[in-house]
Amino acid sequence: MDLDAIASKVRAGARIDRAEALELYRHAPTPTLGRLADQIRSQKHPGRIVTYIVDRNVNYTNICVARCNFCAFYRPVGSSEGYVLGFDELFRKIDETIAVGGVQLLLQGGHNPDLPLTWYEDLFRAIKQRYPTFRLHALSPPEVIHLSRLSQLPVPAVIARLIAAGLDSIPGGGAEILVDRVRRLLHCYGKATADEWLDVMRHAHRAGLRTTATMMYGTVETDEERIEHLLRLRDLQDETGGFTAFITWSYQPANTELGGTEATGVDYLRTLAIARILLDNFDNLQASWVTQGGKVGQLSLAYGANDMGSVMIEENVVRAAGASYCMDEVEIVRNVEDAGFIPKRRNMHYDILGDPIFRERDVPRMLELRTAREEGDTHTPDELVNYEARSRAGKQLRVISNPGAPSPRSAN
Ligand code: SF4
Repeated sequence: MDLDAIASKVRAGARIDRAEALELYRHAPTPTLGRLADQIRSQKHPGRIVTYIVDRNVNYTNICVARCNFCAFYRPVGSSEGYVLGFDELFRKIDETIAVGGVQLLLQGGHNPDLPLTWYEDLFRAIKQRYPTFRLHALSPPEVIHLSRLSQLPVPAVIARLIAAGLDSIPGGGAEILVDRVRRLLHCYGKATADEWLDVMRHAHRAGLRTTATMMYGTVETDEERIEHLLRLRDLQDETGGFTAFITWSYQPANTELGGTEATGVDYLRTLAIARILLDNFDNLQASWVTQGGKVGQLSLAYGANDMGSVMIEENVVRAAGASYCMDEVEIVRNVEDAGFIPKRRNMHYDILGDPIFRERDVPRMLELRTAREEGDTHTPDELVNYEARSRAGKQLRVISNPGAPSPRSAN
């Protein structure tokens, strides 16, 4: 297959197929891939604007029954290191987020069998009551599937109940690689098959929610399987048009059961570029500086990215696996401007909200990146006694934290 012919096709704005994508990904020189991706980025986003969002990534619990072997974040049910954040703690985090100009919470967590659907509904309603305009970008597809199984309700019914409680959009986490051979090897086939992940997004889009899509590469997958992942996302986007953005990051191996080594920065840039070329129906691609660092994040803007993602206030999952890059708004803006772009704040729908907030008013500089556990959260917030626990350990904790209390109300 002729690389020049494929590159000409991309330059002409034509869609490329699986074989052409694989040829480009494997054999095109890295600068060529970058130039092709940059051309598409500049056509979709003329004016050299690069966006970012001020939000907060909060992990409400680290207790998880899924036990993916690439994950350093989760703790099994009954672990002394397990936690669930209380409503008051979450309110405090929202207050801090608003103080730095934040507009939304990215709320994700483990598959905790002791948190029923009603806990999420009550939490979302409580947040919306206190902060009516604050947005909830919450619960990745595997969490929605977990709630569907826990509540024995179909996925569309779970999504409808979460929307009624205040859910605004769904993050694209838990996609890893959307190929079941890979998912079985990563022990994440049980939490969601490739079809199940895509189906949650399909239902969410039909219900009127916008969502993001992700890809975690660098574990056991082949180049063909990375391309397959991107094609499955492209097909669903053709069908629904519901994805706002695509984000890819490399597997972070430290402290995981799977182990291994981290993919290189060059691999990241090539993967980002082929995603920009192949995902011709996605408007926005984020730079993953949290896993790649500020410099590769900045370079991403020449390899197809038009967005710097989220200003770092808190992140616990990749940090647990060794990634510790951290940039506040001042740092993000400096990286964007030094690369020759114009930084603008946005919301989850990629509407421009304005110039950097720190140029409009005084905001605190980087809040210290700490895990929720180190912040001294109680493992059993008071309100948990109102929700029925399913695991033996969860039931014991309810009794210990509130001896003599009446029986909890039944879940759902
Ligand atoms: S990646 Fe998510 S679902 Fe898998 S073990 Fe970690 S917290 Fe659980």
